[in-house]
Amino acid sequence: MPSKRQIFVDDVPIGGGAPVAVQTMTKTETANLAATMEQIEKVAEAGADLVRVAVPRDDDVEALKTIVKRSPIPVIADIHFNHTLALKAIDAGAHCIRLNPGNIGGPEKVAEVAERATAANVPMRIGVNSGSLPKHLHELERSNPVEALVAAAVEFVELMEGLDFENFKVSIKSTNVPNTIAANRLLAEKIPYPLHLGITEAGTKWSGSLKSAVGLGTLLADGVGDTIRISLSTFHAEEEVKVAWEILKALQLRERGPVLIACPTCGRLQFDMDTVVAEIETRLEAYEDPIEVAVLGCAVNGIGEASHADFGITGAKNEGLIFAHGKPLRKVPQDDLVDALFEEIDKSIDRGAVAVDEAKSAEGADWLAKIEEENAGELTPERIAQMEHEAALAEDGDAEPEPFLKPVKRPALDEDASPTAGRRFTRA
Ligand code: SF4
Repeated sequence: MPSKRQIFVDDVPIGGGAPVAVQTMTKTETANLAATMEQIEKVAEAGADLVRVAVPRDDDVEALKTIVKRSPIPVIADIHFNHTLALKAIDAGAHCIRLNPGNIGGPEKVAEVAERATAANVPMRIGVNSGSLPKHLHELERSNPVEALVAAAVEFVELMEGLDFENFKVSIKSTNVPNTIAANRLLAEKIPYPLHLGITEAGTKWSGSLKSAVGLGTLLADGVGDTIRISLSTFHAEEEVKVAWEILKALQLRERGPVLIACPTCGRLQFDMDTVVAEIETRLEAYEDPIEVAVLGCAVNGIGEASHADFGITGAKNEGLIFAHGKPLRKVPQDDLVDALFEEIDKSIDRGAVAVDEAKSAEGADWLAKIEEENAGELTPERIAQMEHEAALAEDGDAEPEPFLKPVKRPALDEDASPTAGRRFTRA
């Protein structure tokens, strides 16, 4: 369930059923205006809805005054230890203030910031980190770290409510993935405010992305979480944004840009799939619409499970096939597969629908059918999955199991009926 409350960070709604907002944090010294703006432009282009900047010094507040005016997306000021900087950041025009009420110098200082934020209609993110819980919760933290994190967050929520300030979202962060999941689940049951999700110091691009996908993905799949930040040890904040989007796209919570699917490959692979997939992934970055592109390592299974894709290729030793919505388009030499795939995508953009040359399509279908026939007895991963699925259904007493790889019914690929008709894929 989404949070009951909704707040707005400038024009971006958070919580209350709004799309999960993607945010990141700049890695530059905020006072370095040129470098910070360059990074903000990059993260905005990559799809960040919000950006946070560190404000540890007066110089940063000075830069913030310009940043909030020039930034294409709302800016959150990240403040620790110094409530005066929080007041100055609000005066500078920050669209949101992130602070930890436990390290800002006491409830009176929090009250001062809340009062200024109310006057400016600026929301806050209040948060607790596993490394900085208040002293009276240390014993509980040793016996039950999840309850300690939630207790700290609830105390902060009560503090803010006692100050008549309810324009906030809450974050509970830990380096421990299971604790992050358990604590956020528990907190979501206890408070109505939007939740900011993140795994603290998740790690490098590789391990950090995986930890975040597991932790945040689990929560988001449960409906917990209203905005996410992926923390990665990289200077390139846009990488964090890309990972966030992959998580949201995988869960079908939001759509942005193409989706690439590829078989895992096996001993039947007959071409350099790694290189081909990498090239397709890079070239797809220039497209904005959610085109689904499939890459199959061989034609043994036919188009099979990739028949739902907008476009796809299936490779063989010397030749490969381009297909769209489960229908063969044309057979091409193996070396030309990627270029031919993008020719077809671009043609469909220009035409507003997938163009089908029936003679070439029939030639491709014959080629595919021949390969399928020659390999009818092959136990491919896809066929094994189908057999297992059918066996499971039969065990459940289903006399006529649905075929796992049944062809997806598609409208004919003409101007009027194609799923892409009237929809223009746009290139950036
Ligand atoms: S059998 Fe399946 S996994 Fe193996 S290369 Fe062909 S499509 Fe890929």
